Amino acid sequence: MKFFVVKKNTLAVILAIIVFLISLISFVVISTSSSPQPYYSIVIDAGHGGIDNGSIGYSGTLESEINLWYAKTLQQYCTEFGFFVTMTRTNDNGLYSPFAKNKKKDDMKARQKIIESASPDMVISIHMNSFPESSSRGAQVFYAKDNNKGKLLADSIQEQFVQNLVKPRQSSEVGDYYIVNCTTAPSVIVECGFVSNPEEEQLLLKEDYKDKVCYSVVCGILKYLMIN
Ligand SMILES: [Zn+2]
Repeated sequence: MKFFVVKKNTLAVILAIIVFLISLISFVVISTSSSPQPYYSIVIDAGHGGIDNGSIGYSGTLESEINLWYAKTLQQYCTEFGFFVTMTRTNDNGLYSPFAKNKKKDDMKARQKIIESASPDMVISIHMNSFPESSSRGAQVFYAKDNNKGKLLADSIQEQFVQNLVKPRQSSEVGDYYIVNCTTAPSVIVECGFVSNPEEEQLLLKEDYKDKVCYSVVCGILKYLMIN
């Protein structure tokens, strides 16, 4: 009888150990198999869209289309580097309601809402520049006047442009734009180049140059995060 009690207790202990080991293994398997949460969140904004084409290039390139092409490449790179990416648009449509009286205003408000709900670590808005004088050229980054982190982010990206691109502008600049002013997050407008400059327009349309611009933006973002 005594032997049976001991055996019963031993069995209970063994069962408890097995249950503990199974739960431990399950915990280890679950924790190692689920992918880690991305540490940084970024909003990528492809400028313009819908009825708003943005700038029209020297040979007719529509800024809204090329912005989306660049924004999608940047999205791919940022995702590969482990960022959580929110896109303001992923097709040619604008973000305004078809019933809106002021579609441009409605579109910008919708972008602001996306930024607010994402509460991102930064906002990167992709644009192509244009100027009546066709000799104007050079990629340049703009930031909001009183946003110190925005300036650091812009400087960091501009530095990569100076190193990697063809005839970029030498420094970033303050820009009074809705997308940089509508949030307290570091927000920058990346003007990848001038589509009004015939030579730069052709360069911007090349796949390898697009990749180089987007890679430079990612390098700038990573350097900014390292020093902040
Ligand atoms: Zn634009």
